[in-house]
Amino acid sequence: SADVAMYHAKNYGRNNYQFYSRELGSKASEYIMLGASIRQALKNAEFELFYQPQVDLMSGEIVGAEALLRWRNPQLGVVMPDRFIKVAEESGLIVEIGEWVLREACSAVVCLNRYRPDDHPLSMAVNLSSRQFLYNDLLASVKDILAETGCKPEWLKLEITESLLLEDSQEIISTLSTFKEMGITISIDDFCTGYSAMSYLGQFPISQVKIDRSFVRDIAAKQDKLELITAIIRIAHALRLELVAEGVESKQQANLLKIQGCTIAQGYFFGKPMRLRHLKLILAEEHDLMQ
Ligand code: C2E
Ligand code: MG
Ligand code: MG
Ligand code: MG
Repeated sequence: SADVAMYHAKNYGRNNYQFYSRELGSKASEYIMLGASIRQALKNAEFELFYQPQVDLMSGEIVGAEALLRWRNPQLGVVMPDRFIKVAEESGLIVEIGEWVLREACSAVVCLNRYRPDDHPLSMAVNLSSRQFLYNDLLASVKDILAETGCKPEWLKLEITESLLLEDSQEIISTLSTFKEMGITISIDDFCTGYSAMSYLGQFPISQVKIDRSFVRDIAAKQDKLELITAIIRIAHALRLELVAEGVESKQQANLLKIQGCTIAQGYFFGKPMRLRHLKLILAEEHDLMQ
């Protein structure tokens, strides 16, 4: 029924919104409203990227950032991605949004790296939806965007989810391999929350995993949680995968992760997602964020 709702929203626009919201209930009406508004949002430039710092646990230095999408709508206010990404995926709009995100994030990292020493560039992590692999020539658009913005492939990290690998498609694997050959880092987001067997991961052209924040949450309070994350860190090492810990909210958690051999971390302890100009200010201060 969501698809039907989307269809009507697409073809009949806002006038029918009232009618369908009464007919189909609140879930479907939210789909109609969001679907129609997302389409407008691209035209009206209502999307915005926030950047969350990623920190090297040894030096305390910012080594990169993750681009996180925000939608500022006059009626809805600021809409977080968990509320609209799924709708955007189901309507296919994620392809266009995703290209916008890539272009914007690549421009941002070019801007950030302009004033940094050549041997100390920042990286930029961008979230990709599986849809972007399935319904679009992603490889071509990434190449275009890198060329257009002047972003080096080595600066770019593409975050995918385990479910993309479960598609078990030769085409997807080959796209990922090409990205890796170009120098782009492929990262598994929300690692260990999906269904993939870890030993299987070694067969894919992946260089990094991000430990989901659900595994970080209680490591300072519960011994069994600390043991679990330690095991995950060991597995990542055994697979020769770089590791990023997500959702680090305290210094205690940061220290425990560092002791267990995790190299990079991200979370409110180091910084919330922020505007580009704010990130630039923090970088200019050159703080050791572990202190
Ligand atoms: P994600 O990629 O796993 O991003 C991490 C999420 O955790 C972000 O939520 C971030 O704000 C939040 N976070 C970071 N540090 C902490 C912390 O210390 N504590 C807590 N409680 N949360 C923390 P956000 O920005 O709401 O994004 C949610 C999800 O939406 C992302 O999860 C990602 O899957 C998706 N997303 C965001 N931007 C994009 C995008 O441009 N494209 C696509 N396809 N998906 C996106
Ligand atoms: Mg992510
Ligand atoms: Mg994540
Ligand atoms: Mg997530």
